[in-house]
Amino acid sequence: MAAACAAATDAQPAWAALAPVDRGRILARAAAIIRDRADELARLETLDTGKPIQETSVADWPSGADALEFFAGLAASVTGHHIPLGRDFAYTIREPLGVCAGIGAWNYPSQIACWKAAPALVMGNAMVFKPSEETPLGALKLAEILTEAGLPPGVFNVVQGRGAVGAALINDPRVAKVSLTGSVPTGRRVYAAAAEGMRHVTMELGGKSPLIVFDDASLDDAVSAAILANFYSSGQICSNGTRVFVQRGIADAFLTRLAERCAEVRMGNPLDPDTQHGPIINVAQAEKIRAAIAAGQAEGARLVCGGPGEGPFIPPTVFADATDGMIIAREEIFGPVMTVLTFDDEAEAITRANATAFGLAAGVFTADLTRAHRVIAALEAGTCWINAYNLTPVQMPFGGVKASGLGRENSAAAIEHYSQLKSVYVGMGPVESPY
Ligand code: NDP
Repeated sequence: MAAACAAATDAQPAWAALAPVDRGRILARAAAIIRDRADELARLETLDTGKPIQETSVADWPSGADALEFFAGLAASVTGHHIPLGRDFAYTIREPLGVCAGIGAWNYPSQIACWKAAPALVMGNAMVFKPSEETPLGALKLAEILTEAGLPPGVFNVVQGRGAVGAALINDPRVAKVSLTGSVPTGRRVYAAAAEGMRHVTMELGGKSPLIVFDDASLDDAVSAAILANFYSSGQICSNGTRVFVQRGIADAFLTRLAERCAEVRMGNPLDPDTQHGPIINVAQAEKIRAAIAAGQAEGARLVCGGPGEGPFIPPTVFADATDGMIIAREEIFGPVMTVLTFDDEAEAITRANATAFGLAAGVFTADLTRAHRVIAALEAGTCWINAYNLTPVQMPFGGVKASGLGRENSAAAIEHYSQLKSVYVGMGPVESPY
């Protein structure tokens, strides 16, 4: 860890001194390499995470390549401002922070590494990245690809190890910023540690996001979105809409259609291209999910489909007749467990959707566009969808409010989180002094 921080510290000034367009060119080359090796990388991601190759072929590395490409293109257009002051003027310079630490979760190891590395590097920072110990391969592969693309040694470094390595990294005096993707409890610890050194932070944390389905929505689209919002990556997605609020009049039809669709899921070997639903990251996590399923049953919710499964496999699981106070409606499960809650009117849906400490994401399904925008405006969430769910194009800022985090990844907004402003006042005439 110390060697990585030293290498990053040594390499950063020369990297920052390059023209931004030259830094961007290296990132663009890395994106092209990723696209050329799509099949090999998808397989690696599946071996690392257990996610179906159907998903890793389209979501993980491809999204990472999108980020590298996007920030490569943005590199040359980041500028400061000129501030006219009459005779004098001022200007601002957007400077790199220095050495940035990235710490990742295990659900999207290569995507997380790319989402953090791309804006950090393009702004002239160096990075030391610690992936989750569950998924050590993706970040290493990214380092290899960036090196092949021409990144100078020391600019992007990977350290392996559990949380203690991450904690040591944040406390290293050479680290100017930490960007974490992880759970809320880890986020609190990392934020507190970063505060000691007055370090910048980006926190991408957990959620218990609402997906609100009004009775005028297209039922099939809403069911498809609920599936995408809960069962992709076996439910191990921070932004999942795990509290599905369905307007009472369509609740039975919604549940019937959902159960039919879930019965068709192909669960199994993630390397089989026909597999749609893979295992949980490890058996310990699967047991935590099973405990949540058991709590749902013990508290009286109705199991519509799915259940505890076996070993690392847990099928798409849906609970109905749940209430907001139940564990399955309150806590992030980080597994394929959807809780369907019914509501009567718009005001009630908004109040109940917001009654959580989390605020990562939210979705609304309705044919009434006026209502869609009104409801989204009232929801306390950083990343929202109308008649869609869990789509995260790199052009759109991604992140949460409340306990789900701060700062934003992706889009031009991420540039601000990997740079700082220097203000320069320029005196153009004689200096007036009182005595
Ligand atoms: P954790 O919070 O357990 O771990 C996240 C990372 O932090 C891991 O690399 C972990 O190391 C490391 N870590 C743990 N403790 C510390 C510490 N004290 N100091 C520094 N680093 C530490 O999350 P999971 O890996 O279990 O991922 C699941 C969680 O991540 C869920 O809550 C999910 O919602 C959230 N998440 C959020 C996303 C978002 O963008 N908002 C996206 C994806 C996931 P190790 O595990 O190797 O010990």
